[in-house]
Amino acid sequence: METEPENCSCIVCGNKEARGIFIFDSFVCQQCEQEIVATDASEDKYRFFIRQMRRIWLRQNA
Ligand SMILES: [Zn+2]
Repeated sequence: METEPENCSCIVCGNKEARGIFIFDSFVCQQCEQEIVATDASEDKYRFFIRQMRRIWLRQNA
């Protein structure tokens, strides 16, 4: 059984994933990152991602 101690909780979907990116000290999994990149700015989903991102930024400034 393979152990993956690097898994982090994605701030967008909440899943624990090994692959992804860090925005400041918050983790976004690869799947969500690719969704963000692929999502058109006019879509509701994109706004959802932006809102999640803003939560990080606001936390950084707190
Ligand atoms: Zn995710």
